[in-house]
Amino acid sequence: MERDVVVVGGGVAGLVAARDLAATGRDVLLLESSPELGGKLRGREVAGQVVDVGAEAMIARRPEGLALADDLGIDLVHPTPATSGVFSRGEVRTLPRSLMGVPFDLEQLAASRVLSREGLARVAEESDAAFDDDVSVGDLVAARLGDEVVDRLVEPLLGGVYAGHARRISAAAAVPQLLAMARRGSLLEQAAAIPAASGPVFATLPGGMGRLPALLVGTGGFETRTSATVRALRRTPTGWALTVGPTTAAETVEAGVVVLATPAAPTARLLAEVAPEAASVLAGVEAASVAVVTLAFRASDVPEALFDRSGVLVPPVERRTIKATTFSFGKWAWVRELDPDLVFLRTSLGRHREESVLQADDEALVRVSLADLAAIAGLHASPVDTHVQRWGGALPQYAVGHIARVARVRAAVEAHPGLAVCGASYDGVGIPAVIGSARRAVASVTRAE
Ligand SMILES: Cc1cc2nc3c(=O)[nH]c(=O)nc-3n(C[C@H](O)[C@H](O)[C@H](O)COP(=O)(O)OP(=O)(O)OC[C@H]3O[C@@H](n4cnc5c(N)ncnc54)[C@H](O)[C@@H]3O)c2cc1C
Repeated sequence: MERDVVVVGGGVAGLVAARDLAATGRDVLLLESSPELGGKLRGREVAGQVVDVGAEAMIARRPEGLALADDLGIDLVHPTPATSGVFSRGEVRTLPRSLMGVPFDLEQLAASRVLSREGLARVAEESDAAFDDDVSVGDLVAARLGDEVVDRLVEPLLGGVYAGHARRISAAAAVPQLLAMARRGSLLEQAAAIPAASGPVFATLPGGMGRLPALLVGTGGFETRTSATVRALRRTPTGWALTVGPTTAAETVEAGVVVLATPAAPTARLLAEVAPEAASVLAGVEAASVAVVTLAFRASDVPEALFDRSGVLVPPVERRTIKATTFSFGKWAWVRELDPDLVFLRTSLGRHREESVLQADDEALVRVSLADLAAIAGLHASPVDTHVQRWGGALPQYAVGHIARVARVRAAVEAHPGLAVCGASYDGVGIPAVIGSARRAVASVTRAE
């Protein structure tokens, strides 16, 4: 079988790349190893209603997600004005506005009581300590503003996105704005000058991000095959040959162009023969495993006070098991409207190199979530239904050196006309950044032809 294009991986990166390539008139086949498309975008039925059990929103400050929604004719919805909390020093406190932990307003930080008196004093004293060019977010903020703000704000904020550790994640790769500010001078002064946010920060589809894959396929003009694992990639005189399917019944698919939209580990395996340098770099990109526990409660069992919150971050120093809880019923009107008698919330568990937390059965993850919700939020109710979604090796870690590693991978891959990579391992793990990486891959293979 020969195609113009084969896209490997049916997450948002692969779906966007396939759709864009099909729009240029090419014959595109997308191969996905699991039985369903969407990757980390997934809806599941809990208490009779479909809710997100993977990604649930995208940042509305970047253009890529908004432009895609526009193109699909979707009217995005935004979170309610409910506030986020952080569980710090034994209580849920209102999350102060910050750029990844660097406060916009010292008075607001003080009023939040997230930090101790000493921690706050250290922030206010901001030092002008030097830092390495490729420093971790945690080391950069700790050098300037002290350890406590890292432990109690930076860590839970970064943990929510990367499931990683602030002192390992590259500032240049994860929060370049912060690094640029630190190079210019005082973090506090520049953060104070950041204008108040105008317009919503997050957006989602009515009905959840899990609806996006079907919309991309439905309007995409490309063919998809699920339960089709690509095992090997090699060059042919005219393009590429992919080995697809179980080893006992492997099939060869040929294509002029191949886009690998798979996570770092499978991409490394697929590139082993054709781009060994890229393969060895990608093999070194670690990933964190996480789990999302969705709980449905009777609305009458949930304390009124919780309805004004969108969720709570839990810093690792608090030594609970969950690292965050999203009060989906408080955050999203569309969730609250699903069934007025039900309240949905979710907890997330698992950080990089702390996989032991997830080595428990589903019931144990529900139990520990309920215990933490009782301790943190005073929620003592029994759920009417639960769902546990495990995401193994799901979040690539942008460790110090990430930008240089990605440049090496792209140089090695782009040396092969008709081959490109995209997805969460390169330019950002958030959905808009992943869409951006897909568009970059499409530009590179169409330019090369
Ligand atoms: C629990 C969780 C919550 C998140 N929440 C948010 C959020 O709210 N907002 C946000 O912006 N981001 C969020 N993210 C991050 C974001 O969802 C992901 O970074 C993004 O969806 C990744 O898309 P992708 O296409 O790069 O990869 P994936 O979604 O991982 O897709 C890759 C696909 O490739 C397939 N594949 C792998 N190997 C092969 C092979 N050999 N052959 C064929 N197919 C293969 C996989 O099965 C998978 O379907 C979240 C992530 C997780 C895990």
